[in-house]
Amino acid sequence: MMTRRQKIIKLLEERDYSVSELALMLEMRGRGTKKIILEDLKVISNIVKREGKVLLIQPAQCRKCGFVFKAEIKAPGKCPKCRSEWIEEPRFKIELR
Ligand SMILES: [Zn+2]
Repeated sequence: MMTRRQKIIKLLEERDYSVSELALMLEMRGRGTKKIILEDLKVISNIVKREGKVLLIQPAQCRKCGFVFKAEIKAPGKCPKCRSEWIEEPRFKIELR
């Protein structure tokens, strides 16, 4: 039986996923789901480092004006440039360093 974090690691070693996509894959729903997964990703970022791997972050991007957010493990809110909430989520992937 794999833990949730082990499942996330396995998925991210295959391809990139957004937090919403990970929630679907893990059949998690409801309030707080994204927060739990974001916390997992922070821990996973450290776990994989010890194995010589790296958690890659494709930053969030505003779908209205194209503004690119900082590459960080965080759910984007409003676009700081145009205030739009139409945001493409960041995507995560695990690769060998
Ligand atoms: Zn924008």
